[in-house]
Amino acid sequence: MIRTAAEYRDSLSAMKPNVYMNGEVLGRDNLPGTEIMELTCELAHVDSLKHLTTTTSHITGEPINRFCHIHQNQEDLLAKQEMTRMAARMVGGCIARCMGIDSMNALSVITYQCDQTHGTEYHQRFLEYLKYFQQNDIVGCCAQTDVKGHRMRRPAKQTDPDLYLRVIEKKKDGIVVRGAKAHNSFAPLADEIIVTPTRFLGPDEGDWAVAFAIPGDYPGVKLVCRGAKYRDRISELASPFSGKGEIESLTIFDDVFVPWDRVFLCGEAEFGGQLALLFSLYHRHSYTGCKPAVSDVIMGTSALVAEYNGIEKEKHVRHKLAQLICVAELVYGCGIAAAVKSTQAPSGTQIPDIVYCNVARKHAGENLYHEYDIMSDLAGGLPATLPYDTEFVSPEVGELVKKYLARADGVSPENIYKCFAWISDMACSSMAGVMQYAGVHGGGSPVMEEIAILGTYNMEEKKDLAKRLAGIEEYTLG
Ligand SMILES: Cc1cc2nc3c(=O)[nH]c(=O)nc-3n(C[C@H](O)[C@H](O)[C@H](O)COP(=O)(O)OP(=O)(O)OC[C@H]3O[C@@H](n4cnc5c(N)ncnc54)[C@H](O)[C@@H]3O)c2cc1C
Repeated sequence: MIRTAAEYRDSLSAMKPNVYMNGEVLGRDNLPGTEIMELTCELAHVDSLKHLTTTTSHITGEPINRFCHIHQNQEDLLAKQEMTRMAARMVGGCIARCMGIDSMNALSVITYQCDQTHGTEYHQRFLEYLKYFQQNDIVGCCAQTDVKGHRMRRPAKQTDPDLYLRVIEKKKDGIVVRGAKAHNSFAPLADEIIVTPTRFLGPDEGDWAVAFAIPGDYPGVKLVCRGAKYRDRISELASPFSGKGEIESLTIFDDVFVPWDRVFLCGEAEFGGQLALLFSLYHRHSYTGCKPAVSDVIMGTSALVAEYNGIEKEKHVRHKLAQLICVAELVYGCGIAAAVKSTQAPSGTQIPDIVYCNVARKHAGENLYHEYDIMSDLAGGLPATLPYDTEFVSPEVGELVKKYLARADGVSPENIYKCFAWISDMACSSMAGVMQYAGVHGGGSPVMEEIAILGTYNMEEKKDLAKRLAGIEEYTLG
C-alpha cells in the first residue's frame, strides 16, 4: 500500500492525544510540519517522480514508498539520496521522513548479526515488523538520542540510571522500558517511534542495549513538544510555506510495556553500540541528500537577492556563490561516492561507505553558518528590519513602503518584498534558528563524525607512503 496524503492525515487524526505543548494535551490535527510529512506521501503518487519515490519491496514484491525500503544495492542508495535532495528542495529544508527508514535499515543489519552471534530471534521478528511497516506505508521517526545527563559519564555511571533509556523489567510477554529521548524530530507526526541506543555500551550495560518500535500514542509514551514556524503572511504576499513549520519532541517512556514481537535488541551490549553507529551512518548518508538541498535553497536565494540588489556581476558576489556551489556539490558527491563504495551486509542490506558519509556530514555541518553568512552578507540588513506585510498594503503608507523598497530596475515591489520576506523566514525567524542548529547537530555533532572518520581511516597506510617517499623504507612500485 502506498498511502495518499489524505489517508496519512486520517491516521494521524485517529491517534490518541499524548502531545504536550504550550500547556495543552493535543491530538495530531494541524501540528506544525504536517504538510511536510504529507508531501512524502503525495510525491509517491506523482507519475514523473515514481522512479525515485517508489520501489518494490524485497520481501513481498509489492510496490512501496521508498521511505519504507531496505536498500538492496548501490542503485537503492543513490536513489534514496536523489529522492531526499529533490524532496528537501521542495520544502526548503528537512523532509522529515528519513529518520524512520534510516533506523529500519540499521535494524535490518544488526538484528541479523546479533542472531548469528547469540542465537536470538530478532531478525525474523524484524522482518515481520518490516512487512507491517511496508504494507501500511508507516511513517516512522527515530528516537536515538538519550538525554544523557553528565556528558562524561557512561550510562551505568549516571547518578540517575534513567538518563539513558533502559529495560527495567523483563516479563514473559515483553519488557518494560523507562527513559527519555531528546530532540525527536517530527515524533508526533509519526505513526511509529523506533527506538535505538545512542552510544557504545560496555559489557555491564546490557540494560541500556535495547531497540524496539511502538505506536506514537502508545500507553506511557508522552511527547513533550515545541515547534517553530515561518511567519504568517497575508495571502497576496504569501509563499507556499508561510505560517508553516516543524516540530520536535522530548519523548518520555514512562514505564512502557513493549511486547516481545516489537523488541529487536535486549541486552546484547556490543550490538547496542553497533546499532547506534549504523543508524548514524545511514542518517549521515541521508544528509548527503538533504543538506545539498538546503545549500541549493541558500544558493538560489543568495543569487536572487544579489540580482535584485543589482550586484550580481560583482567579483566578490561570484566568489561567494562559487563557495556555496562547492559546499553543496562536495557533500552530494561524497554521498554518491558512499553509495558507489558501499558494501553488502550478510543480511543483504547495502551499507554506505563510512568515511565518505562522515566526511560529507562533517563538511556540511562545519560550513552551515558560513552559508548563512554569505546569504546575509549579500542580502544586506533588510531581512532583519523588513516592515510587516500589513504596512506593504496599507492605504496610508503602502505606496511609500513600496517606493522605498526599490532595488534593481524592473523588479516589482511585490517580488522584492517576497524575496526579502523569504530571507527573513530563512535567517531571522524561529524556524531559522532550528534549521541552523539541525544543520550542525542533526545526525551527530561534527566531533562525532571526526571520531567515526579517524576510527575507520587507514592512517598507517599513509605513514608507510610517507616513509617510502622519504627514503625511510624501500621504494617499490605497486
Ligand atoms: C533540530 C534537531 C533535530 C534532531 N533530530 C533527532 C532525531 O530525530 N532523533 C534523534 O535521535 N536525535 C535527533 N537529534 C539529536 C542529535 O543527533 C544530537 O543533537 C547530537 O547527537 C548531539 O547530542 P546533544 O544534543 O545531546 O549534544 P551533546 O552531546 O551534549 O553535545 C554538546 C557538546 O558536548 C560534546 N560532548 C558530548 N559528550 C562528550 C564526551 N563524552 N566527551 C567529550 N565531549 C562531549 C559534544 O562534542 C558537543 O561539542 C536532533 C538534533 C537537533 C538539533
